[in-house]
Amino acid sequence: MNGIYWLKMPGYRVHNYFGFERPLPQLYWEPERTDLACLRDSVRMVRETAYAHHIHRLMVLSNFANLAGVHPLRLSEWFWAGFADAMEWVELPNVVGMATFGDGGLLASKPYVSSAAYINRMSDYCGGCRYDPARRTGPGACPFNYLYWTFLDDIRQRKLDVGQRMALVLKGLERIPAAELAEMQAERERFLATLEPDETGWRFDHDQG
Ligand SMILES: Cc1cc2nc3c(=O)[nH]c(=O)nc-3n(C[C@H](O)[C@H](O)[C@H](O)COP(=O)(O)OP(=O)(O)OC[C@H]3O[C@@H](n4cnc5c(N)ncnc54)[C@H](O)[C@@H]3O)c2cc1C
Ligand code: SF4
Repeated sequence: MNGIYWLKMPGYRVHNYFGFERPLPQLYWEPERTDLACLRDSVRMVRETAYAHHIHRLMVLSNFANLAGVHPLRLSEWFWAGFADAMEWVELPNVVGMATFGDGGLLASKPYVSSAAYINRMSDYCGGCRYDPARRTGPGACPFNYLYWTFLDDIRQRKLDVGQRMALVLKGLERIPAAELAEMQAERERFLATLEPDETGWRFDHDQG
């Protein structure tokens, strides 16, 4: 992390491999604005303790932002503001490199995205959640599921290089009927339209690194 930072700054800050433009959702400051149990608890933990374990950072907080198409720098600024251990040299490569693949694979060998299956396997959040981790569409379908599969579909359609480690996962798309993918795309649009953008008005001034 340290090496990448000093080698690549200040340009590293503006990497955005997927071209995502969504502002940070306000729920990152106010966890009560989301009913996704895993996300709500992870944000709450950061607000109350200025800390979350690595997997919360990677597979919940960043995973969600990436799947929702949030600009990597907006997410990075939130990590920088919210965590007690956030020095830019370690926070920025973790967010822009490791967690969001914003640098196109300079640091990480794949984007760390997952559906609800991973979160369900690794935590006990899903049992107490109003969403169903096993459903990809229809009432109660977990947003991590349709966001994940449509994220992969977007990569496939744009023929983006996301590393060899994603080859098998991308192949899994072939097993999903086109009609189901279209339904997930519609769910995605509906869900993303409910995400309220950052209302803080905060601006982060960056020096030259
Ligand atoms: C999106 C994201 C943002 C992060 N932002 C920061 C940050 O601002 N500051 C920070 O110190 N860490 C950051 N990390 C790395 C990591 O999450 C924390 O260092 C870790 O949570 C510390 O907890 P631990 O001591 O239980 O680590 P353990 O998992 O027990 O690891 C042992 C030690 O190794 C080091 N370490 C392990 N993985 C990493 C890593 N990926 N990057 C740097 N050090 C690592 C830490 O010093 C840690 O204390 C981030 C990770 C992600 C995915
Ligand atoms: S079902 Fe599980 S993965 Fe989906 S939002 Fe709820 S807690 Fe998170």
